[in-house]
Amino acid sequence: MQLRYNFRVTPDAAQRTALAQAFGCARVVFNDALRLRQQAREAGEKYISDGDLSKLIITAAKATEDRAWLGEVSAVVLQQALADLNTAYRNFFNSLSGKRKGRKVAPPRYRSRKDNRQAIRFTMNSRFKILDNGRLRLPKIGDLPVRWSRSLPSDPSSVTIIKDAAGRYFASFVVTIGEDETLPPVEPEIGIDLGLTHFAVMSDGTKVSAPKFLRRAARKLKRLQQALFRKQKGSNRRKKAVTQVARAHARVANTRRDWQHKLSTAIIRDNQAVYVEDLCVVGLGRTRLAKSVHDAGWASFTGMLEYKAARYGRTFGRVDRFLPSTRMCSDCGRINEKTALNVREWDCPCGSHHDRDVNAARNIKAAGQADFNDRGVQARPGLVPAPRREAVTHPDVARSTRSVEGISVL
Ligand SMILES: [Zn+2]
Repeated sequence: MQLRYNFRVTPDAAQRTALAQAFGCARVVFNDALRLRQQAREAGEKYISDGDLSKLIITAAKATEDRAWLGEVSAVVLQQALADLNTAYRNFFNSLSGKRKGRKVAPPRYRSRKDNRQAIRFTMNSRFKILDNGRLRLPKIGDLPVRWSRSLPSDPSSVTIIKDAAGRYFASFVVTIGEDETLPPVEPEIGIDLGLTHFAVMSDGTKVSAPKFLRRAARKLKRLQQALFRKQKGSNRRKKAVTQVARAHARVANTRRDWQHKLSTAIIRDNQAVYVEDLCVVGLGRTRLAKSVHDAGWASFTGMLEYKAARYGRTFGRVDRFLPSTRMCSDCGRINEKTALNVREWDCPCGSHHDRDVNAARNIKAAGQADFNDRGVQARPGLVPAPRREAVTHPDVARSTRSVEGISVL
């Protein structure tokens, strides 16, 4: 199975210029090729083969005054732009003939410099390289700093450099891992509300609290931290206390991780699709809820759900955080008055009686299903994955602005 691993990269000014040039050249090659094929089709000529196209659009064009600058970027980038076009055509034809299931695929369209997402791909034969200092060496671009948020399980076969609508850069590595771990499909789909009273509440009514042993370990950590503050700086007692706090901290972190792994694995195993609210955890973290939010560890939990979904062939989606999920009635859709946080149950004028969190989870599920079915891609600013087994150049994906640190399946 092939997985995609995404990381932020932070090119300097010169590298950004070189990238802009490469994006531009790839776009020109893609558009030239598309135009040539369209013209051939309108003239009633036969479909231009991939090999002929490459000779005409890249090799011959470089020799002309108009396109001489194509020689300034890596040839692989240009070849991959043509490969993107071929993939787009193949998807379109297969969709027409019914060989390709699912939503209809539109014919390839021209790329624009105004597209929200610019991308170029380097394959192995471009000799891109991950250096010992952690930088990513790209031919004719330079050594890009990468924010390695996790390690790659094996050597990548290609890397795509993406610039999103927000002007952020990402490196998306394709890595092949052992066996296909896709689980057999199941019926249920679920929405999850991540809350403060319970760690998670599911649309089927299940409520999950952090286990007692975890809360106990967290309390002990807090006690040790307070004790540490009282110790005199530089004293032996303080040194001892520092070690104790570090140990307790590691124990809490490990315990929480184990517990989250078990919970996320169970949820992914039992459900075909999982939707969560796209909480702006960072924003919340600045308020007085900070402590409980960070202790709750939602980010790491949703991260686990996301990559396990990718790994085991399930759907994972984040739902717009502006959805009024707590006050919208999941039965009639009416948006009711805001209620105080301590109001745990409420009645809708339609006659439905709601548990605040279960209702929110049901709305999240419905919104996730709608999002996913409409677009076939996920709806989170900066989010990942191409639908399974598709090139990232699928028109839907190319049109989206999503790209973020994470793992997804190809
Ligand atoms: Zn209602």
